[in-house]
Amino acid sequence: MSNYDYDLFVIGAGSGGVRAARMAASKGVRVAVAEDRQLGGTCVNVGCVPKKLYVYASEYMQEMEEARGFGVQAGSISFEWATLRDNKKSEIARLNGIYGRLLEGSGCDLIDGRAVVTGPNSVEVAGKTLTAERILIAVGGWPFVPEIQGKEHAITSNEVFDLEQFPQRVMVVGGGYIAIEFAGIFAGLGADAELVYRGDLFLRGFDQEVREFTATEVARKGVKLSFNTDVASIARRADGALDITLANGEVRVVDQILYATGRKPKTANLGLESAGVKLNSAGAIEVNDQFQSSVPSIYALGDVIDRVQLTPVALAEAMALVENLYGTGQGKVPNYELIPTAVFCQPNIGTLGLTEEQARQRFANVDVYVSDFRAMRHTISGSEERTLMKLIVDAESDKIIGIHMVGADAGEILQGLAVAVTAGATKADFDRTIGIHPTAAEEFVTMRTKTR
Ligand code: FAD
Ligand code: NDP
Repeated sequence: MSNYDYDLFVIGAGSGGVRAARMAASKGVRVAVAEDRQLGGTCVNVGCVPKKLYVYASEYMQEMEEARGFGVQAGSISFEWATLRDNKKSEIARLNGIYGRLLEGSGCDLIDGRAVVTGPNSVEVAGKTLTAERILIAVGGWPFVPEIQGKEHAITSNEVFDLEQFPQRVMVVGGGYIAIEFAGIFAGLGADAELVYRGDLFLRGFDQEVREFTATEVARKGVKLSFNTDVASIARRADGALDITLANGEVRVVDQILYATGRKPKTANLGLESAGVKLNSAGAIEVNDQFQSSVPSIYALGDVIDRVQLTPVALAEAMALVENLYGTGQGKVPNYELIPTAVFCQPNIGTLGLTEEQARQRFANVDVYVSDFRAMRHTISGSEERTLMKLIVDAESDKIIGIHMVGADAGEILQGLAVAVTAGATKADFDRTIGIHPTAAEEFVTMRTKTR
């Protein structure tokens, strides 16, 4: 046991901080956690959880329309924003409570306040200076909005969940996860939604075929896609609406403009520079593969190191860190190569491993299997929605090196397949797997004809 107040002082009770604190405390480590907003961090309060609840809401709207094709009539369909928002609030408050009880139950001291690093082993929080053998920075990120005229009228993912009124006309700026998910949520809930992205096609870095297919499907769901342009200025009108002038000169009138142009590490005014902690040009904390910063007693993980901004990655990093520091797993490193991920647009994108473009760069011989079909549900639902499934195989070893899907429940389906691929599954393993009929997922084990 060290002579410090704590063995480990965790700054930030988000996905990574909570996991590291609980795991360490369960090993007998004396842990304090400081949090200056809500327990659970971005994911629980203004990220994954409320987002997924809103995605469900927007899917119900579509499904109730589709039910008519099956003879199920529910009268006229209406949507009440206040009910969704307030039920969401209660659920998040419940989760905040669970997080507090989990932390305290595992033996951590929970401190309500903004912590600032004052030295390699000291932190100032809630008017006190506390010392610790090690400090873990898990402060996450914050939405970034570029400098444009009228940016004060824009909202970000921090504000979007708790809007007073449901906006009937919405512009979403950006072409990443948040922009696409929220364009889908708003359109699904009945708003006129337009997505404005500065490049040729959104979802840069995803498989090209997936990007193109998703654009078709998202547009089919009623989202207006405006690529190769950007917002030049925003102005508030007397009636409260917003005039948006685009770089191509076009003007739109909307009720809200949501900026989803990335997130930056929340490292400003945290005392890091004066403690000697090195940051990169984007403000992220530089760490080695043991999550140790340039100051050996200070560690960092999750969004603040800006490797992969996903909750399960922050959790994996936290578990590796605690095993390395306090367990038996010296040198444990998360597997950054095979991270399954989903974009919860409509329909979902699920993806794992290499895109076709990356695979062709890294492997001499690549086989690609593609299936593009109308899911059984939509044969009579009246919806034109299609599903895309794609397997990418290293022809030399027969190993599956990439899986992509755009379709209902793609996130759920990919999670199971990720286990197989992490275990080293080959195309032959997929082929000898018996399908579950009738499902969409069975297509992944019945693709026999090479597309390319
Ligand atoms: P955070 O969860 O952001 O936690 C950091 C905590 O530190 C915060 O609670 C903050 O208040 C606190 N803090 C900051 N500074 C201080 C300080 N000085 N003192 C005390 N406390 C401090 N990921 C997924 O995997 N799936 C999804 O579906 C998904 N959806 C998302 C949707 C949205 C809209 C957003 C914004 C993100 C989403 N993410 C999703 C990403 C995910 O939320 C983050 O990757 C994850 O929360 C990162 O965890 P973290 O612990 O690094 O940081
Ligand atoms: P992303 O990094 O995913 O996307 C940012 C988008 O904004 C890109 O299209 C980018 O364009 C564009 N952009 C960046 N700067 C500017 C600018 N100055 N002007 C105009 N456009 C700009 O960030 P998000 O904010 O969508 O989400 C943050 C992260 O949170 C995600 O990367 C993801 O890791 C995580 N997340 C995960 C979710 C999930 O797992 N389902 C859901 C939501 C968030 P370009 O590509 O041209 O650079």
